[in-house]
This record gives sequence, C-alpha cells and structure tokens, in this order.
Amino acid sequence: MAATAPGRQAWRQLMRNSCRGPATPSNLLRQQHRAFTRQASSTTQSSSPRRVVTQSPSTFLRRQPLAQRSYSSGSQGHNTPPRSNSQVKFWPFLIVIAFGSGGYVLLANRRKKMPPTTEPAPATPAFSPADVTVLFVLGGPGAGKGTQCARLVKDYHFTHLSAGDLLRAEQDRPGSQYGALIRDCIKNGAIVPMEVTVALLENAMRDTIRASGNKKFLIDGFPRKMDQAFKFEEVVCPAKLVLFYDCPEAEMEKRLLERGKTSGRADDNAESIRKRFRTFVETSMPVVDHYEAENRVVKVDSTPTPDQVYADTQEKLRKVLGDKL
Ligand code: UDP
Ligand code: MG
Repeated sequence: MAATAPGRQAWRQLMRNSCRGPATPSNLLRQQHRAFTRQASSTTQSSSPRRVVTQSPSTFLRRQPLAQRSYSSGSQGHNTPPRSNSQVKFWPFLIVIAFGSGGYVLLANRRKKMPPTTEPAPATPAFSPADVTVLFVLGGPGAGKGTQCARLVKDYHFTHLSAGDLLRAEQDRPGSQYGALIRDCIKNGAIVPMEVTVALLENAMRDTIRASGNKKFLIDGFPRKMDQAFKFEEVVCPAKLVLFYDCPEAEMEKRLLERGKTSGRADDNAESIRKRFRTFVETSMPVVDHYEAENRVVKVDSTPTPDQVYADTQEKLRKVLGDKL
C-alpha cells in the first residue's frame, strides 16, 4: 500500500494522542485534518512553476540584432578592415560551461550517495506477534462470527473484540465526537474511517493486557477494508491468520432478518442488509483474497448448524496453530 505522506503524518499524530488518553480517539480527526492541510499547503508552494531559460552562447549571439553587436560595428564609417567572426571571444563562455557542467556532475554524484528521503522508515507495531496472538475473524454479515467467537473464548481463553461492538459503544458514549459519523456509517453499511476503528481496537487490547494479562485476541469483523488491514498490522500487531466464515447470501439474509426481530440493531433491516452485502462483496472480500494469496486464511463453511461449524473450526485451527490455540 502506498500510504500517502499526509496519511502517515496524520497517523503519527493520532497514535501519540490515543496513547495518552483512555479508550477514546479524541481530537484525532481534527489533528488529521490539520496534518493534511499542512501537507497540502507545502505541496502547493513547492510546485509553483518556475521558468528556466536556457540558451547556448551561439544561439544568444545569433539572436542579437547585428547593429547591437559591439564586435561587428568596427568597419562602419572607418577605413579599418572589417573584423572577421573568428576573432569573437568564445573562451569566457567555454569557461562558464566547463564550470557549470563540473558542478552539476559533482552534485549528481553527491545525491546518489544520500539516503532516499521520500519514504519514511516503517512504524514498529505496538505489540510483537511473538508475544501477542491476533486472529482476524471475517465473514459476511450474519455469517456467524459472533456465535463462533463466543465458543472459542470459552474453550481457548481468547479475548473477543468485535469492531462493530466497539464502534457502537463509542457511538453511544456521551460526548463522543464520532457518534454521528459512526451512526451514519453503520446505518448505511459503510466503513467507518480506519483511524477511529484501529485506535479503538488498540486501546481495547492495551486495556485487556493491563487488566488481565491475556494476550490472545479474536478480532471480529475487522479488517473490512485493505487500508485497515495494512494499518493495523503496521502499527498495532501482525495477525497470525484470518478465520473466514463462508456462507451464501440467502442464508445470511434469513438469519439477519430473524435476528432483527430482537437485536434492536439499526442495521438489521432489509435496506441496510442489502447495503452491507454490497460493501462486503466489494470492499471486504478483497481483504480475504489478499490474505488467501499469502496463505494465511482458514476457511470454514458456516452454512450448517453452529455445533457443526464449531467442530470444523476447532479441527482446522488445531491443524494450523497446534498448541498455540
Ligand atoms: N464497521 C466498520 N468497520 C469495522 C467493523 C464494523 O465500519 O471494522 C461498521 C460497519 O458499518 C458494519 C457495522 O459496523 O456494517 C456492523 O458491524 P458488525 O461487525 O457488528 O456486523 P456483523 O458483521 O456482525 O453483522
Ligand atoms: Mg457481529
């Protein structure tokens, strides 16, 4: 991913801030905006056009009107013979060209030896994967991620962090500056800007480790977009694998409409469900494909009953993780 320079600046600012406070990424978007503005204004200044006029000495001489050439006026009105062009002094131009070229070559060689300045060094993740286990749990809306995570927590002592639950808690937190933004995204099945979600997850991991010492995490419903995946692994912790629950859309829709009768969730209705499906296919499936290409996906068919799906999950995870499970 080519994270742009303004994005990186904003991110550093963001993380400095989020480490100081409790579980809220307060002021982060405002600081991000400032970083973007700074970058944008410096780019505008540096890109103002500059006219560079280059002319070789001979072109310059050819363009001078004859009457103004001091060296060609000697014969007019006098008996002295006209001076030929061969007497024109070129050596000052040659000296200028020689020094100019020499200087250019020296500068070019010097720049080659300097380290490249465009790409800043990559950030170090907050947690080492040798110390902290992270499994991403993905699947379409209603695929059964939450149900399976609850069982894995019970049997294997994971801490379950649902990105959706963290966002809903932040949305309902009195005084949160992201409440309206999160509410709007959830209703429309859109993805909340990654800065908010990644900061909420990092804070939740930090709090869990501090409070209980547990360093095994199931991160449910995240990453839903490539930028989130890259940012989380870069600044928080590289994931061990992706547990992907595969389920046909018709089955997921049936489950969500059933859940909607009692869940009280603003997005468990026919219209929001349609939008969530579209976001999943267009934005989240490329994340699964990316990890699949890296051989980091454990895929489980989640159409059967929860018990059958769980048995399959355990078997496949044991094969890959062994006693790390
Ligand atoms: N969401 C988001 N980023 C995330 C995770 C969730 O923006 O990383 C938002 C998104 O609008 C999504 C909603 O939260 O549709 C509900 O997510 P949740 O994981 O609770 O839905 P589920 O997949 O469990 O049905
Ligand atoms: Mg869920």
